[in-house]
Amino acid sequence: MTETTLTQDATVILERAHFQQLLDALLQSGYRVIGPTIEDRAIVYESLSSVEDLPIGWKDQQEGGTFRLEKRKDQALFGYTLGPQTWKKHLYPPNVTLWQAKRENGSFKITPPEEDRQPLAFIGVRACELSAIAIQDKIFLESEFKDPIYQQNREGLFIVAVNCVEAGGTCFCASMETGPKASTGFDLALTEVIDGEKHYFVVNIGSARGLDVIKAITVRTPEAGEVEAAEARIAEASQNMGRTLETEGLRDLLFRNIENPRWEAVADRCLTCGNCTLVCPTCFCATIEDVTDLTGQHAERTRRWDSCFTMDFSYIHGGSVRYSSRARYRQWMMHKLASWVDQFGTFGCVGCGRCITWCPVAIDITEEANIIRQGDVAKTKEA
Ligand code: SF4
Ligand code: SF4
Repeated sequence: MTETTLTQDATVILERAHFQQLLDALLQSGYRVIGPTIEDRAIVYESLSSVEDLPIGWKDQQEGGTFRLEKRKDQALFGYTLGPQTWKKHLYPPNVTLWQAKRENGSFKITPPEEDRQPLAFIGVRACELSAIAIQDKIFLESEFKDPIYQQNREGLFIVAVNCVEAGGTCFCASMETGPKASTGFDLALTEVIDGEKHYFVVNIGSARGLDVIKAITVRTPEAGEVEAAEARIAEASQNMGRTLETEGLRDLLFRNIENPRWEAVADRCLTCGNCTLVCPTCFCATIEDVTDLTGQHAERTRRWDSCFTMDFSYIHGGSVRYSSRARYRQWMMHKLASWVDQFGTFGCVGCGRCITWCPVAIDITEEANIIRQGDVAKTKEA
């Protein structure tokens, strides 16, 4: 395919045999390329340099409280759906040093942290994860107080999205209208198709930078039926999603059910471990810690992810405001599905299903919301 026939709205085919060229083009452009790889029998997002680093031929089996990697029958590069980690690990790191101080001549000297200015390229961002990044953009870049660490990591970020052609065991992005197809917010979007001996990616170009990368690699014009085959697989993933969350009137439903007995029932199971907040791609709470060494010569301030499931999180002068697990679970779920709407204009949930998979007792946000809907106090009063 010649460069002159390539335009930003073109759809092209990248053969599996040429996939390494995409990684090389990004690496040669100076990006630190981050994508899915396998570590500790789970999919994690780490630095990549070779196509062999991808989880080739693996798929995930997920259900409430369960995650397993299994071998696929084919050699798909993106044959899994989601692992426990999210891209916020790289945009809004879990633990950062804000400054360090050293005592010197009766005074002290403050050293800011070293900055890593290498731009990031993410490969394998799912549609729900694009929505999560858009939500975190609102929080960290578009509100009154901008987060300089997030801003630095986000600036220049190159995103290669991958459309889902299989639904994960706990996904419900279709009902949140955040997937399984990426519609915006990417530089390139790929759909992987394996059909007998054929193995290729349908590529949608989403930006001028995406077009530049495509011009640097070997792609071709789609043949009859190739784009349709990709679309059919995405549609199938949407239809096969096992969970739904009814979002109609959800904010108001939860606000009027603040005393629904279901909160007590879920609290009986909830361990308040905070896993659901740590795996969530939109949760953004953090705490600040100041520490000194035993000699008193060095001090540092760090920021680390926090969770609304800890007692300390709502500690205000003499005690925790949310001392019961009922109060903490209710706070988390109502923030995700009700007060987040007032704060940021969207739900704080994109339907990725991670909080269901990684909850040790398999508490399911879709099930909880649906049960509250069934026992809606408004219905009870009518009856
Ligand atoms: S809902 Fe599950 S993951 Fe979340 S705090 Fe409770 S037990 Fe932990
Ligand atoms: S609340 Fe659960 S399903 Fe929704 S975005 Fe967070 S982890 Fe994913």
